[in-house]
Amino acid sequence: MDSAYQHILIAADFSSHTDEVCEKARALAERYQATLSLCHIVEDFPLTDFAYEPMISVDIDMRDALLEAGRKQLAKLAEKIHIPPAQQWVECGSPGHDIVRIADDKQVDLIVVGSHGRHGIKLLLGSTANAVLHHAHCDVLAVRLRDD
Ligand code: AMP
Repeated sequence: MDSAYQHILIAADFSSHTDEVCEKARALAERYQATLSLCHIVEDFPLTDFAYEPMISVDIDMRDALLEAGRKQLAKLAEKIHIPPAQQWVECGSPGHDIVRIADDKQVDLIVVGSHGRHGIKLLLGSTANAVLHHAHCDVLAVRLRDD
């Protein structure tokens, strides 16, 4: 099948909706016999806007500790859905930008993210899902999430 996805990337934020997003991606990967990968971006906070200086700098030790915590969380999630260590990536940065960069680097052809429909278009505009949709060079599946 020419249109089959070969490499599907899940962007995981460890929210309560993560399992739902993973399940959609896992089912698609099974259907297309695609490689399934997982990534998490440890936000370089305080959020650095290009127009401003960061208000507090994150020192190297703190960054390493956050990366390590992210790796542990991702490994736990990966184990549940049988994704091997070679397909798990944790990096520091800005989710909207770095999810797309990882997808480009790893030749992903479908990115799967969650999207909060409940808040309407206003919130979607500033969201990670929106940033990924706008900047990705491959297909993006935004899984509609509903908060109870
Ligand atoms: P949000 O815009 O924060 O509601 O996030 C929407 C979706 O983007 C989440 O369901 C995840 O799929 C993805 N996402 C958000 N933050 C991150 C992150 N730090 N690392 C990886 N994926 C993320």
